[in-house]
Amino acid sequence: MPLFKSPEEQLQEGNDRVLRGDFTGAQRSFLSAAEGFGKKGRTGEAQFAQTFAVLMGLAVPQAGAQDYQRVAEALAPLGSAPIKLGTRSVSAADLRREAELAREEKDVLASGPRTPEAHEQAGARLQALSLAYRQLGNQVLVLPELFRRGAVPASSKAPVLAALAEEEFGESEVTRDPKRAAEHNQNARNWWMQAGESARAEAAGQRVQRYGRAVRCWFCGREAAGDGINFRGLSSDIAGFEHEDGGGGALQDSDASRGIVYACRPCASTVERLADEKAQARTKEIEDRVNRMLAQMRQKAGPMGQQWIPASLPP
Ligand SMILES: [Zn+2]
Repeated sequence: MPLFKSPEEQLQEGNDRVLRGDFTGAQRSFLSAAEGFGKKGRTGEAQFAQTFAVLMGLAVPQAGAQDYQRVAEALAPLGSAPIKLGTRSVSAADLRREAELAREEKDVLASGPRTPEAHEQAGARLQALSLAYRQLGNQVLVLPELFRRGAVPASSKAPVLAALAEEEFGESEVTRDPKRAAEHNQNARNWWMQAGESARAEAAGQRVQRYGRAVRCWFCGREAAGDGINFRGLSSDIAGFEHEDGGGGALQDSDASRGIVYACRPCASTVERLADEKAQARTKEIEDRVNRMLAQMRQKAGPMGQQWIPASLPP
């Protein structure tokens, strides 16, 4: 047995380790192989071994967009050359495409959109991803299989991504058009059910209810849709004052059983600001009284006792 392994042997050893699930060991072997090939001036083979080593960076479940980007970049110069890794042989171009899709997915999911525009953009990216995976059909994705995360047909990723896209579209619409947001969540619900994610389907269904709900404002009579967004219930003593027809038309303006009246956003904010102003004025009044009392106490206590009495109510 030779003391030093040839780069071919190291490459083989790397592949054996991949098959055993030892990806850290495999990465070491591939790096040694790349170095060995490099020393012999066999740059083409060195590049393959180097690419395999970069690929092993995806073995950890927390691999992020940057890791997939690195892999896509490493694969680019290999064109559509066949790659034999693990049990499968794939073209470098196909593998690169898969890495790019995974990179995009990781990137969108980590983006945490906050504005309506950002939600809409995230929705569009997720929708495009869903379509891309659907177009790949039933072919089993290489990367999850290679890293022992199961046989994942490309198209099986489509419903989840479509559901997430619809939820993002819903979030982008929720303040300007809650009914439209409810429709998006209805679509999301259907996609979640297709993906077999019943808990997420139910959560989307609840948003459909909440966003789709419309009432008539008790105060101004305006119609408002979107519970907690464009209207809310305010506690009220309405016993005996309920409208016989429920407030006019099919829309409720109150719920006597819960002791609330519905207020559209402008009316609710008027009531709440008024209440807030009153509360602040009352607090100021009490503060003034306490401070007057403290001043009197300091006066009575004299120079010796004063130090134990604060000059005013601390904030
Ligand atoms: Zn109103």
